[in-house]
Amino acid sequence: MPALFLFLLPLLLPSLGASTAEDICIVGGGISGSSTAFFLTNNTAPTPARLRVFERRDRVGGRLATVSVAGDNFEAGGSVIHPRNLHVRRFADLLGLAARDDDEGDDDWLGIWDGGRFVFRTLRPPPPGSSWLRRRLHSLANSLLLFRRYGFSLLRMDSFVQEMLQKFLLYYNGFESRPVFDNVEEMLKWSGLYGLTQRTLQEELIHAGLNSQTISELVTVITRINYGQSVSISGLAGAVSLAGSESGLWAIKGGNWQLAAGLLKAASATLHLQEGIDSISDAGDYYVLKSNKGHEYNCTVTVVATPLDEVNISFTPPISIPPRKMQHTHATFVRGLLNPKFFGLNSVSDIPELIGTMEVPDIPFSSISVLKKHSEHDMTYKAFSRAKLDDSLLDQIFSTREETIRINWPAYPHYHAPEDFAPIILDGKQLYYVNSFESAASAMETGAVAAENVARLIISRLPRAGLLLLSEEDAGGPPEPHMESFAGEEDSRCIDL
Ligand SMILES: Cc1cc2nc3c(=O)[nH]c(=O)nc-3n(C[C@H](O)[C@H](O)[C@H](O)COP(=O)(O)OP(=O)(O)OC[C@H]3O[C@@H](n4cnc5c(N)ncnc54)[C@H](O)[C@@H]3O)c2cc1C
Repeated sequence: MPALFLFLLPLLLPSLGASTAEDICIVGGGISGSSTAFFLTNNTAPTPARLRVFERRDRVGGRLATVSVAGDNFEAGGSVIHPRNLHVRRFADLLGLAARDDDEGDDDWLGIWDGGRFVFRTLRPPPPGSSWLRRRLHSLANSLLLFRRYGFSLLRMDSFVQEMLQKFLLYYNGFESRPVFDNVEEMLKWSGLYGLTQRTLQEELIHAGLNSQTISELVTVITRINYGQSVSISGLAGAVSLAGSESGLWAIKGGNWQLAAGLLKAASATLHLQEGIDSISDAGDYYVLKSNKGHEYNCTVTVVATPLDEVNISFTPPISIPPRKMQHTHATFVRGLLNPKFFGLNSVSDIPELIGTMEVPDIPFSSISVLKKHSEHDMTYKAFSRAKLDDSLLDQIFSTREETIRINWPAYPHYHAPEDFAPIILDGKQLYYVNSFESAASAMETGAVAAENVARLIISRLPRAGLLLLSEEDAGGPPEPHMESFAGEEDSRCIDL
């Protein structure tokens, strides 16, 4: 029996949840956790450490997920990618993930609702299949309409966003000119973005010369759509939010969650699905992670890749992070038809396809947009709101509802200014927190940027750093990971929420 037992032991160990103290363990299988795994493996020479990723749900992606409404799939959480989100672009290219054909966000038919009327509307889009010239003229006419109402504030808003983007682009500099950061404040100060986190968006925009009408209408509509919050958010979160209304936005065909799935696969991470981590205890040279399946894992390095604000992980010894509230966004998907009377209109065809709202207390939703037009009398909509839209309210807003799906997201931090930041190294040792950077701004790309820094920080602080890290200089340029294309593979973990 002893010989047989020894022979079987390696086979038994993983199923019992045992691990060596060589493991690098990541808690959270969203874009932050999966890109940490990717950067750890793709910036390094082969390492004996095993990469374990724990995901409490039965699928990866976290706040990147699709929802099925009457047979069609739509993004339920993080939906659009900015053209200058270079990590996500590179991930998609490496993983062979294509962009969706119908780019969201370009030239929407926007209406700004103040609770009683549309204070501003762009022009109804030309019918599908219209000529290039007609579409160009339509776009030009809309620009003129916007200019007539908001004037030069539009240009000032654009400069404000471009200036932020220029600074953000520094996070893609080569390693030789980009330090590794052990706290978010230094990371933001280095790029020149820290100041934006210390004043509200409203203060920043007034300083930039925007008029009050542009701030209370256009800017407010955008911050309410993208972060469910007002212009009192920090200037940096606000600038990121405004960038999310630019043209050229795109999304992954089949769902953005595939980024996380592909990155974990590329990193050859051992994925523990439906295994939540309940506690993380310092055991000297390593951490003991206890899971809700009763398993224990010994991890030399532990990375927390989820916001800690609403999860219940107990830390021994306790950690100290500044209090942060998550802004809940209720995403309500409806297949049916809006009620024109609710908007004081006679026909549903007069209702803009993207309804943005001003900061007026009685307005029950932040936005309603058409996701798909099945026919003139049958559409799929997405509504964002700060509180649940109950049936009686939905029955006023919609004249018909065939299907309704509600998702309550702990969506992003509730931003304020001045913003304060949790440490990246939670205990001064080998316990890291990727989502401390989310207090700067929440997006797929900010998750990836934070993850890359954490991966470099881990590598630089491991005793065997020399073994692990191949610098760009050594490698003769940025590392080129060799990966297969995973696009089109069946993945049973894509579930409808
Ligand atoms: C409605 C909505 C719209 C958005 N729109 C956009 C957009 O258009 N563009 C954009 O770039 N971003 C957008 N975002 C933001 C973007 O989705 C997030 O910033 C990003 O997905 C966060 O990724 P993450 O990996 O940091 O966190 P998460 O995606 O939250 O991942 C954390 C993971 O950790 C898991 N977990 C938590 N606790 C434990 C535990 N104890 N043990 C194991 N696992 C655990 C969770 O289940 C989750 O899967 C949007 C978000 C929402 C909600």
